[in-house]
Amino acid sequence: MFDLKGEIAIVTGGSKGIGKAIVYALAVAGATVVIADIDEDNGKHICNELSGSGFQAEIVKTDVTDSKSVDSLVHYTVNKYGKVDILVNNAGILGDAPITEISDEDWDRLMRINLTGAFYCCRAAVRHMLEKRKGKIINIASAGGKQGFPLAGVHYCASKGGIMALTRQLALQVSPQGIHVNAVAPGTTETEMIKNRSEEKRQFIINKIPVGRMGRPEDTAAAVLFLASKAGDYITGETIDVNGGLYMD
Ligand code: NAP
Repeated sequence: MFDLKGEIAIVTGGSKGIGKAIVYALAVAGATVVIADIDEDNGKHICNELSGSGFQAEIVKTDVTDSKSVDSLVHYTVNKYGKVDILVNNAGILGDAPITEISDEDWDRLMRINLTGAFYCCRAAVRHMLEKRKGKIINIASAGGKQGFPLAGVHYCASKGGIMALTRQLALQVSPQGIHVNAVAPGTTETEMIKNRSEEKRQFIINKIPVGRMGRPEDTAAAVLFLASKAGDYITGETIDVNGGLYMD
């Protein structure tokens, strides 16, 4: 049911953290994975590791804020493999400054990576998926896009709320053509994104999580694999929370 043999997947921001775990989950399930990340070195390392174990992955250096870079990523993938079955929009950055300290540039940069980048990737992939009448798009949102969260900035939470709205509306438009669009909303997850948190802030977060630990990248990757596989075939327009019960707080 989770078999992805023969499927072609693009994962943005796949060189580290949650994206890296998603790349592994999809590749081990049998997909050929194209990592689309600005970090080429880590991406190459992941591809070498995966190919050493008999799995398929390659890195295509891509900046999701540049629509030409995104269009050429999808063009390259379709030319080489004939299709794109799965797109995971994972590339993102965190912003946690209070509103009075967010400059115009901070706001624009974060929105361009977290929201505009996902739009560019969806647009490029959907143009192709519509021809095949088949596709799975999975956008990585955040718990901060759904409820107030003390350690995230308004720009970050607005970008992730935008991701969920984009997910629903695109699902409404393209599900009749065989393209499923869903999101996964992780709670705080152990990656480089949160490495600068003080021990006090980490404990503050953990105290809010009923299961008593932060998320692991693999927790989110498992939900993405579910949605990408046949097991998720009757789900579209949905956001799955992966947050250890945070909303029960
Ligand atoms: P991460 O460890 O910082 O990895 C993000 C990756 O995206 C990095 O390789 C980064 O490259 C790359 N990237 C940044 N800008 C890019 C661009 N313009 N084009 C292509 N790639 C780009 O982040 P993460 O914690 O795994 O987060 C992944 C996703 O999960 C994000 O969307 C994030 O908002 C979401 N999320 C994370 C958490 C959490 O607590 N970690 C919680 C909820 C949601 P560089 O490192 O070179 O910049």
